[in-house]
Amino acid sequence: MRTGSLLFFYLFFSSAQAAVPSVKVLIAKSLNHVQVEGMDLRKTIHTQKTSQQYSGKKLISFKCRPGHKRVLGKQSLLVASLSSPTGLISWGKNKYQGELQLLADTSSNSCDLVNSIPLEAYITTLLAKEMNGTWPVEALKAQAVAARTYAFERLKRGSSDKLYHLESSEKDQVSGTFFDATEKTVMASRETEGEILVGPTGKISPAFFHSKCGGKTLRPDQVWGGVEEGYRSVNCTFCQKTGMKDWNGKIQNKKLISMVDQVLKKYYSDQIADSDLKIMPDSVHNSELRLYAGDRLHIIKKSYLRNLVGREVLPSNNFVMSMRDKHIHVEGQGYGHGVGLCQLGALELAKRGYDYRQILSFYFPRHKIKTAYAP
Ligand SMILES: [Zn+2]
Repeated sequence: MRTGSLLFFYLFFSSAQAAVPSVKVLIAKSLNHVQVEGMDLRKTIHTQKTSQQYSGKKLISFKCRPGHKRVLGKQSLLVASLSSPTGLISWGKNKYQGELQLLADTSSNSCDLVNSIPLEAYITTLLAKEMNGTWPVEALKAQAVAARTYAFERLKRGSSDKLYHLESSEKDQVSGTFFDATEKTVMASRETEGEILVGPTGKISPAFFHSKCGGKTLRPDQVWGGVEEGYRSVNCTFCQKTGMKDWNGKIQNKKLISMVDQVLKKYYSDQIADSDLKIMPDSVHNSELRLYAGDRLHIIKKSYLRNLVGREVLPSNNFVMSMRDKHIHVEGQGYGHGVGLCQLGALELAKRGYDYRQILSFYFPRHKIKTAYAP
């Protein structure tokens, strides 16, 4: 580790122990024009090194012009920060806590909008979006710890080329705005404040979650390829009665050949030389599909097929493929990538009286809960 990053690491941890850290969340991309409004706004223009404080209600407009490209040559640049010491900041109909930051995307002459927000406030809005603000509080608390772990890991890791830690999208996790928080989501955040999951050796690894596993959760390596410490695949019968029913569909043989060929090229630097495909006996909980093209066996991750065709065609990674009547039949269970916490399973466990620690230890049996920063 270089001295600079060591210093950053030390400073980060010193401040994290003392207070709730702030996380920078990308909330909008490729904007041409940005208007923000608030009471007693403080505006800092970083490119001009100027600051201004307004009194009363103020609307501030920015046009995202190409001029920043000449100044910097970096892909992204912090242009302006806006905060309100006495209230919230509005962008359109949405209201935010913390600070709004305008980044110039110098490659597209547009702006990105980032919300720098205390991690606990972020969790209270996220719970309403990623779960449901009316769910039992123990399920929300389990989700709070998982989502905080995911965000904290990103924050700790940092990024050399991005001026934010997370995107508010299904790529990372979906956060809400101030009014998405409910009494229960605030309670779930407060009662687990600072708590994160760590692996068996104490390492912080991203805590993943999904809507419905459909019977069995998956490990990160089965879906994305990267090994994360401590993960296990667990049998979950608790989500069966709720959410998306078991699903099925058909894919034309020709279409499957094209899909498999694309997956082989993209993920395995390989391709199908012979188009005569034969699917080997499959099971819904095999994370890999085995198929012969001519006399050559290919083994591909089912998740890679799902990445390629999207969740409309393959709602989850737990599916079985078979060939009947010259068509490929797909039957699947669950919704989402299937790794880590099963949200509908957590809901059922909370209804049965499990507390959030028991829910987390069911889906993350080898992980432990640790307090990352003091309440
Ligand atoms: Zn489940």
